[in-house]
Amino acid sequence: MLVLLNTYPVWISQNVIFSHIQTTMRARASLITSALSDADTVTAESVRRVMDSLRDQPQYRTVVCDHTGLAVYDSLSAGAVEGRYTLIPELAEALRSHDVFRSVYRDAAFDSRYAMPVFSRGEVAGALYLGQYDAPQGLILAGLQSNMLMASVIIFFAVLLFSLFVSMALSRRISGILRGIRAAHGGDYGYTLSVRGRDELTEVSGQLNRLFALLQKTEGLRQQFVSNASHELRTPLAAVRLLADSILGTPDMPVETIREFVADIGEETDRLSRMTEKLMLLSRLDTQPAAAAVTDTAPVIWRAARMLEPLARDAGVTIRCELSERCLISGSEDELYQVLFNLMDNAVKYNKRGGDVRVLSFCRGNETHIVVSDTGSGIPKEDLPFIFDRFYRVDKARSRAAGGAGLGLSIVAQTVARIGGSVKAESTPGEGSRFTLIFPLAKGADRHE
Ligand code: ADP
Repeated sequence: MLVLLNTYPVWISQNVIFSHIQTTMRARASLITSALSDADTVTAESVRRVMDSLRDQPQYRTVVCDHTGLAVYDSLSAGAVEGRYTLIPELAEALRSHDVFRSVYRDAAFDSRYAMPVFSRGEVAGALYLGQYDAPQGLILAGLQSNMLMASVIIFFAVLLFSLFVSMALSRRISGILRGIRAAHGGDYGYTLSVRGRDELTEVSGQLNRLFALLQKTEGLRQQFVSNASHELRTPLAAVRLLADSILGTPDMPVETIREFVADIGEETDRLSRMTEKLMLLSRLDTQPAAAAVTDTAPVIWRAARMLEPLARDAGVTIRCELSERCLISGSEDELYQVLFNLMDNAVKYNKRGGDVRVLSFCRGNETHIVVSDTGSGIPKEDLPFIFDRFYRVDKARSRAAGGAGLGLSIVAQTVARIGGSVKAESTPGEGSRFTLIFPLAKGADRHE
């Protein structure tokens, strides 16, 4: 930019001055040559007469030669070429009947030459040469040039200083961000970047702060999950170990007791395998995307009810279903079954003898609603917000006795979220609980009210 600033305006001004010089020289040359044409001859006297008649201050060196190239007039007194064959190249060119203009800008001055043929009766009778060495205009241009150079130097240093300042400020902020990223990379998510200002870097710092907070939360959940999972897995393992040790450490143990202990070991291992299956399912839900499928809800609810029928009969609980036909949802049959089985299983498990489990399904507007309610023990108000958390159990002893590990409802919540629905729990302790599932009605489904 600075090179352009230093060359382009000077080049333009030079061209403007050149064309101005050419115009004025041409006008002057035309004036003299037409006067000489009128005089009909190109001799020393005729030229002098013409020059005298113009009666003005000589602005240019003026040389006139006849058609042979012999100089008949030279306005320069000293070093005049009068009476000699001229060696001025522009005059020689003008004798070949065309105008010649040359101008160069050198040493802060314009050196310009103009030559024009003199015609008499249609023949070239001689030629006129005008020469000018213009220093004032040249000086103006040189002044412009040096001013530009000065301005460029000032601009250069100003830009340099400004860039240094900006780049130092930027690199200070970027190193702050990098320190934060390195800290997070090393496992320290408590780092907070400063968010002052309104530029993109502030936005990046804000986003990183949110990311660090999220990582911190996830890390907390992960640690909690690992400690809960290991605790839950340790309990049945410890029971198995204890039972096995008892059998091995009591040589005269009755066969009946041994059978009982082995049956207990079988039960504990069943519980372990159920729990690991659920944990694996949860980790699959965390990582795998939902399958694209459309499922009719009623047949899946019927299937879950059929599967739970023996358990319900043993517990003295009745399962009643009131289902609307063709309430479709976007989700696979397995996913929906998983959700309903867990909810209905809880409704049976945490019910009382002679109690009911009611499953209701209907479509409303663009939604499919499924409600699973029971007449069981209910869930205390203070526990309600946590029941969907992994390993959360309200009544640990009852849940464990019923074979639960506090994973069923977290599987429900995660699966429902995966297929774009929502789940809500309401309960009145002592009267029962109600779980409401709402899914977007799958496209292409018939509407029912
Ligand atoms: P679990 O495998 O222990 O049943 P869930 O995640 O399915 O775990 O449920 C979490 C806890 O919520 C249960 O331990 C139980 O205390 C409570 N709960 C779930 N469903 C019901 C219900 N229908 N009635 C009463 N309590 C329930």
